[in-house]
Amino acid sequence: MEPYRIKVVEPIPITTRDYRERRYAEAGYNQFNLTAEDVTIDLLSDSGTGALSAEQQAAGMRGDETYAGARSWFRFREVAEELTGYEHIFPVHQGRAAERILFGALLKPGQLSVGNTHFDTTRANVELAGGVVRDLPCAAAADLDSDADFKGDIDLVALEAVLDGPEDVGLVLMTITNNGGGGQPVSMANLEAVKKLCRKRGVPFFLDAARFAENAWLVTQREEKYRGHSPREVAKLAFGMADGCVVSLKKDGIVHIGGMLALRDTELAKRCELLLIATEGFRTYGGLSGRDLDMCAQGLIEVTDPLYLRERAESTAYLAECARQAGVDSVRPAGVHAVYLNAGRLLPHIPSSRFTGHALASELYLAGGIRCAELGSLYLGEIDESGELLTPAPFELVRLAIPRRVYTRSHLEYVAETLAGIAKNPERVPGYRLTEAPAMLRPFRCRLEQVQP
Ligand SMILES: *Cc1c(COP(=O)(O)O)cnc(C)c1O
Repeated sequence: MEPYRIKVVEPIPITTRDYRERRYAEAGYNQFNLTAEDVTIDLLSDSGTGALSAEQQAAGMRGDETYAGARSWFRFREVAEELTGYEHIFPVHQGRAAERILFGALLKPGQLSVGNTHFDTTRANVELAGGVVRDLPCAAAADLDSDADFKGDIDLVALEAVLDGPEDVGLVLMTITNNGGGGQPVSMANLEAVKKLCRKRGVPFFLDAARFAENAWLVTQREEKYRGHSPREVAKLAFGMADGCVVSLKKDGIVHIGGMLALRDTELAKRCELLLIATEGFRTYGGLSGRDLDMCAQGLIEVTDPLYLRERAESTAYLAECARQAGVDSVRPAGVHAVYLNAGRLLPHIPSSRFTGHALASELYLAGGIRCAELGSLYLGEIDESGELLTPAPFELVRLAIPRRVYTRSHLEYVAETLAGIAKNPERVPGYRLTEAPAMLRPFRCRLEQVQP
């Protein structure tokens, strides 16, 4: 059960199917055009959508808004240093600002950033800095049904080949957990091996640690050597292997806004500090207010609580299991922050060119007011200006992201029941065609219409 009780409540909109059909049509069948009023259960993102604790609210009240050298900064730095072990801590307004600053200071034009799977803003920031992204997920990641423990690992043989090849590698970046790869964890053994490969060649090794605590939890559950360890001990050991990290605190910081860049190298830190002050704010607040810094510090303490992590992991696995029993498969094994539904398998009558993943995501909204994100050909496929699909995504997935401490198990049961209703008559679900397909940031801006596949 949840190791907390509810002190503040917020009503959620309960709507009718008629209402949702009208609103979704007005929204051009794009869930990003829906508003909070339209959505009953919002599983679009686990980023910045968590619930604050009473202690975080109290910490926010203690927030000190002094411009330079605020007390809040020293409290934040103490927690961040204790957790990561890095000497240079820079607060930023969210994860992508840390990416922009790090890559801007570190990457030379044409250099590679090599990783297990870069997150989409991470990729964009590597490219904006003139770098090139190379994703090397392990082979098990491609098998959605495999129960391998660490499908977030990087392919070490491929990594070594790139490091010893002719290309110039600017850094290796390991994303924990691997959000782009089904939210799968990375093993400590894999991180250790990456560290050794990088150190031997003098290549910087960084973590994209948005879900460092969830990764640490899964390590304590799945990696023999770490069974007796606490999640916080494992997280510290993981940070200890790398030269620094970029972190979106909107995930495992359990705050609504916040991020962090942390480093060992003093020379690199000096270059980053310059970019930080020019674009985010003075080094003792980054892009954050004092109250944000204090709430982040408290969130970074709470998030490694084993009781919290166990319940979160178990409730996500429970949703995946309820869905499976209703006939809807998802990427195995279940991760912690999201369930990735296999829409391609549920809706074989809808070809990728009619956006199978989007079709399932849309039906979840129409049937139950549940909003979620498509991770299929609409997002990841190659599409021409007229909206025709040229190259499909490898899988048609739908991500149900679970906000932290927000929904109870009965909310998740409602999601599973809605899925079960869809799975009874999957052939009734229509496909979609793009009517507006902007070349840039397409998923956020496109419009669609329903078509019978
Ligand atoms: C969310 C996220 C980011 C970007 O962080 P923002 O706070 O949204 O800017 C980077 N990497 C990963 C793995 C993420 O999940």
